[in-house]
Formats: sequence, C-alpha cells, structure tokens
Amino acid sequence: MTIRVSGDGSAGSAAHELQLLVDEMHANYASVTDGEVATYIPELATANPDHFGVCIVTASGHVFAAGDCDVPFTIQSVSKPFTFGMALEEFGHERVWQHVDVEPSGDAFNSIELRNGTNRPHNPMINSGAITVTALLHQHHGAATFDHVLACFSAAAGRQLSFDRAVYESERRTGHRNRAIAHLLLNFGLVAEDVEAALDVYFRQCAILVTCRDLATMGATLANMGRNPITDDGVFDVRCVKDMLSIMFTCGMYDYSGQWAYRVGVPAKSGVGGGVMAVVNRQIGIATYSPKLDAHGNSRRGIEVCVDLASRLGLHAFDCLNVGSSFLGGMLAEGSTTRVR
Ligand code: GLN
Repeated sequence: MTIRVSGDGSAGSAAHELQLLVDEMHANYASVTDGEVATYIPELATANPDHFGVCIVTASGHVFAAGDCDVPFTIQSVSKPFTFGMALEEFGHERVWQHVDVEPSGDAFNSIELRNGTNRPHNPMINSGAITVTALLHQHHGAATFDHVLACFSAAAGRQLSFDRAVYESERRTGHRNRAIAHLLLNFGLVAEDVEAALDVYFRQCAILVTCRDLATMGATLANMGRNPITDDGVFDVRCVKDMLSIMFTCGMYDYSGQWAYRVGVPAKSGVGGGVMAVVNRQIGIATYSPKLDAHGNSRRGIEVCVDLASRLGLHAFDCLNVGSSFLGGMLAEGSTTRVR
C-alpha cells in the first residue's frame, strides 16, 4: 500500500502525517485482545490489560503520542540494554565480553543455562546476562549502584524516574528462578560473593517506572547517538550505542528475535511489564505499552504495531527499497516530500 504524504511536504505536514499514523496504529490494534498479563511476578498481575500507548520520538526531539502514553509501568527487561551500555562505558568492551557473550540463545529469557564452551551467559538481553552485567556494576559501585542506574535511565528519559516498591518487593520475594541463575553464575565465578546484593539491584532496576513516552525518548536517545534529543544531555558514548543496538537487534526479543529481525528489522527490546522499545538509527525511538504478552513474553499489541509501522515507514534495515533511513530524517529536518509505503 502506498500512502502519499499530502500537503506541501513541509516538516509541519510530515509531522502531521506521523501523528495520524500513530493514531491509526493505536486505533487499529486496540482490537487485539489476546495474550496474558504476566503473573509470575505477582504484582504485575495488577496491570490494567486495556492500557495501550503508542509513541514515537524523533532524533530531532519531536514527540508523537497516542493512547495511554503517560501511564507508568515497570521497565523490566527494557532495562537490559541500558545497564549493558553503562557497563560498556565503565569497563570497556573486552572486560564485559569476558563475562557475557553476544550470541542469541534461542531459549526463553529466564532459562537457567550458560553457553556451551564458554560457560558465560549467551547475551546481556536475557536474565543470566543481565544479572551478570548488573553484578559487574555492583562490584564497582557497591551500595550506590542503583542510584547510578536510576540517574542514567533518568537522563535517557529526560526526567527523574522512580521505582515501584511493590513490584520490586514482589519479585524479590518470588524471584527464585533468578536466584538460581545468580548462583549458577557464582559457581562459574562470573559474579562476586555478594550475589544477593547484586540481585537486589537487578530487581530494583526491573521495577523502574517508565511511561510509553519515556521509553520512546530513551529509544530516541539511542537513535540520536546517545544524546537525549529533548534535553540535549549526553547519556551514552556513540561507540557503546553501536554495541547496544547490535545486541538488541540479534537478541532483544528473546526467542522471537529471529522472527523480529525478519519481520521488523530494527533493534528492539521488550519487557514483561508490557513495554516494547525499538530504535531506528539516527531517526526515531518507537515505544508501545500494552501489558498482554505472547508466549515469548513480548507484548502482543506491541509486536503488531511495530511490524506494521516498520512496513508503513519502510524501516527494515535490509529492505533495498528502504525509505526509512532517509524518509524520516529528510521529512523532519529538511521538510522534503517523501512517500510512506
Ligand atoms: N524482572 C523480570 C525477570 O527477571 C524481567 C524479565 C523480562 O522482562 N522479560 O524475570
């Protein structure tokens, strides 16, 4: 289908087209009602299954929002690329890689396993890898680790974030699977003795409250080479952003990552709180919020919206007819006339 951008092709009319598209995504996919709200962390079961937000923030700082974009929810696994980025900045690529591999696992996000041959977690986007990364940060920052994480996430979101104590306590009380993973990591010398303290930071980081608008802004910070496009705050070094996006591309959607790369073709990360964040390099951050999940733990509506948006905006990285990389930047920066497929 071809939708031609109407009007004079100015940045104003292009922005209007993007708002219409976000509105349309919200209207079209509200009818998707299958999936289940996560209950394995008991407090997550209290989420309103009808909440639905779609938001795009451009690398030039324009915001397009539809639906429940200001409803707070816990970031959960969308925290993982950000703590990975923090560890890369602090310890460098080599030291982080000595602790965590960069291979898709093909298994569930919470599987209790290490990679054959290396005895390291497969990648930092699954629980074992993310707990290892947080433990690395914890070795360095000790009791100040969580404040440090919260400050970094807040800078990426462009406002002071907080965390949901009830969700944190709920996971801390019931997170025996993650505890088992942490002890497996301890057995292989990948985390230090005070593994329970590191795990505590991991549970808190997962319980950081964000809105759909925050997640899109955090995505736009990555799209904008690590600089928050609204506050102009430099959050991540551009070399770390490259590593973060690479791992999001290959591993960000757990054991759906291959299909995601095939169907959507942009780096992304989901969380069991219902958030999905996708990044189009140098162009936009996309976020959706809808708490009903599929069997992989990815938001049902989130997947549908991103598949459709990628197709309509031509965002897939390997689409030879790709207009995404020039389309949005051209539209919003120079105001050129471009078409949306
Ligand atoms: N806190 C959750 C857990 O460790 C995060 C998982 C997720 O979002 N996929 O189980």
